[in-house]
Amino acid sequence: MTLHLLERDRRGGEALARALDAALVRVGRCGLCRNLSEDAVCPICASERRDRGLLCVVETPADVLAVEQAGGYQGLYYVLLGRLSPLDGIGPSQLPLDALERRIAEEGVKEVIVATPLNVEGEATALYIADALSASTVRVSRIAAGVPHGGELEFTDQVTLGRALEDRRAVR
Ligand SMILES: [Zn+2]
Repeated sequence: MTLHLLERDRRGGEALARALDAALVRVGRCGLCRNLSEDAVCPICASERRDRGLLCVVETPADVLAVEQAGGYQGLYYVLLGRLSPLDGIGPSQLPLDALERRIAEEGVKEVIVATPLNVEGEATALYIADALSASTVRVSRIAAGVPHGGELEFTDQVTLGRALEDRRAVR
């Protein structure tokens, strides 16, 4: 990208540099969901139109963007900024679960949707969160794993196909 900007689009490079400079100064973290935000409370947390009974737990700010772009989800978020990963030295004490529990209590959350990645670390994180919240009355659900849109069954990996069959839903 740097080579392209230097060779063909120096004005674009200047605009990008200014935008990055401003972002580095202005963008911090939302005090409620920990997502990147220019304000102390991000627009999603501040919105009157979001369903405050639903809280989607994700690993990164990029995951919030992905769920928002998929459309349809109207609840709130909580960004872990990490996942359980013993090999990288990230244990349960590094996950901000106390703050998550406070948020659930303060917002009166009814359901927590754990949308950590569908890999070993993401699944371990989801189990740990479900366990940590087992004493509370909040419902804990996990995003379903499935066959991608337009995907052929014969080319789908065994784990995904197995989960897709387990998580099947009625069509009538
Ligand atoms: Zn927020």
